[in-house]
Amino acid sequence: MPRTNPRELGLLADCESCFGLCCVALPFSASADFAADKDAGQPCRNLRDDFRCAIHAELRPRGFPGCTVFDCLGAGQKVSQITFEGRSWREAPGSARQMYAVFPVMRQLHELLWYLTEALEIEAARPIRPALADALDRTERLTRESADALEKLDVAAWRAEVNELLLRTSELARAGLRGGERRGADLIGARLRGADLRGANLRGAYLIGADLRGADLRQADLIGADLRGADLSGADLTGSIFLTQPQVNAAKGDRATRLPAALTRPAHWPDTAARPAGPRRRSSAGRNRR
Ligand code: SF4
Repeated sequence: MPRTNPRELGLLADCESCFGLCCVALPFSASADFAADKDAGQPCRNLRDDFRCAIHAELRPRGFPGCTVFDCLGAGQKVSQITFEGRSWREAPGSARQMYAVFPVMRQLHELLWYLTEALEIEAARPIRPALADALDRTERLTRESADALEKLDVAAWRAEVNELLLRTSELARAGLRGGERRGADLIGARLRGADLRGANLRGAYLIGADLRGADLRQADLIGADLRGADLSGADLTGSIFLTQPQVNAAKGDRATRLPAALTRPAHWPDTAARPAGPRRRSSAGRNRR
């Protein structure tokens, strides 16, 4: 069995080893998430000379909640320290364009590494472990390619290939559970308080602003689900599949929300617990988009 520890694989962001790439390479528009416009490749006005954020402790009150949601999954330090061998875009401006182009590619590869390490830990996926281990190894090797190779990489094609394995993993993990088929479902603002969604297929579902207080989401496949503003207070997400930190960061929750062990409770969630929901029910809310 290959290494599956996210820390050992460098999948936890280490901002001290990064050249502030998310604050330079990525664009954002003035909105509820960002207090200003910024083009791709333009350093954020709050980025200090040491690549740290000048308003880190007060991002939300200063109008930058979007920055508290993003997580590079370790792509920033990999590009900074391995691909570009520790030479920043300030030291070597000539490499800046390529560094910014490689960063989103690396981010996608690290996301695949996250999913594959999780898949390898799922007991029900044992029959396909050799294929998962091979995909993990190949993805890891891709992350160590040169900047030129990474820039040219057809990352969408590699994602599609790995996704077949992740789909199979999900089927094996949810076998025997009757959570429902809600792939890509429009559940925006849905009232799912206390819903029994155990083992549900919620791949790519639109759960923006949904009321999921007290919902049972154990073994639910949440890959790519849009949880912005969804209320997970008191919800049980232990054993949910392919949930990532940015998804959790974008949602609301409280002290009673139960998360998978690999994820951490966002600092902006209140340290209080909401009143428990009533009995869990199956919900028929929403419609499929895909
Ligand atoms: S506000 Fe801070 S965290 Fe957000 S992009 Fe600017 S420097 Fe980065």
